[in-house]
Amino acid sequence: MPARILDGTKIRDQIFAELKDEIAKLSSSGIRPGLAAVLVGENPGSQLYVKSKIAACEQLGLGSWLHTPPANITTGEMLKLVEDLNRDNAVDGILIQLPLPAQVDTKRVLESVNPAKDVDGFHPVSLGHLVSGRPGLVACTPAGCMEILRRSNIPIEGANAVVLGRSDIVGKPMALLLMHANATVTICHSKTRELPDTLRRADILVAAMGKAGYVEAGWIRPGATVIDVGINRVAEPAEAARLFRNFPDRLERFRAKGSALVGDVHPDAVNIAGALTPVPGGVGPMTITMLMGNTVKAARLRRGLPKDSAAQTTAIAR
Ligand code: NAP
Repeated sequence: MPARILDGTKIRDQIFAELKDEIAKLSSSGIRPGLAAVLVGENPGSQLYVKSKIAACEQLGLGSWLHTPPANITTGEMLKLVEDLNRDNAVDGILIQLPLPAQVDTKRVLESVNPAKDVDGFHPVSLGHLVSGRPGLVACTPAGCMEILRRSNIPIEGANAVVLGRSDIVGKPMALLLMHANATVTICHSKTRELPDTLRRADILVAAMGKAGYVEAGWIRPGATVIDVGINRVAEPAEAARLFRNFPDRLERFRAKGSALVGDVHPDAVNIAGALTPVPGGVGPMTITMLMGNTVKAARLRRGLPKDSAAQTTAIAR
């Protein structure tokens, strides 16, 4: 039987509806949470991402500001801009769209963001809160994966969870969130030995490595839940033929378009897993969703207001 599809778009719509209500309530008490986005230069991919983030703010009734410094900005000028946003009381969340140009010290800029406004959850203080299980702002993609698991009623407590990838923005926070939810967590990376055997022990597998269809269906325990974080654009016909060998419709669409988006898990996994996030339409829509949730959460935490919506409750470390 094919896996249950964990539809990130539907979950996004649910959370958006909850957030919209909550933002309306906050607005009626005089608080309009707001996100300031900083987009440096003219990278088309970054422009697209930021545009969709601003559009989501508008859809939900959040305030938003877009700052677009030129590509030749210096580290000092970026630090000054962040400092101004840190001081601006109307701004609850600061988003620095990455990558920054090579001459800018990215780490220094990210660490200059006031942790109370760190809606990307990248600041060491936010990571510290996550490690120690304290309320705080959690990186959006792993927080979104947790929302998918929880809202799909996938049992986490006591489950063997394997996280493939150990990046600061996905793998590490993901492993911590699963551990706080009482899973038994294994983290795999490029030096892991006997990867297929380790993955086969997973009740929950989170793949975040950035290699199209790398995880073979035979490495997945029958019935396991698979959260596929990878977003990889495939343009090679031979690669598409390998990935879509059992999906003539997808192969056809690939041929018509010349490319396709694929996760880190081979599409054949749909016939082995018990539940699975599709690519596209699984984890992808959750990242912006959790950014919106984090902006509302930052507005509340900064003012000492109690948490309200389910989206924020579960985005907190525990
Ligand atoms: P990253 O920083 O490149 O990290 C990749 C991780 O995978 C590293 O820990 C690396 O191990 C591990 N890895 C690479 N090759 C491996 C192999 N052959 N065997 C085992 N482990 C291997 O990537 P990331 O930023 O975490 O992103 C991962 C994927 O998620 C990418 O496809 C990215 O596009 C996607 N992503 C999606 C969203 C979303 O919104 N859905 C958001 C963020 C990222 P080492 O540490 O040993 O090098």
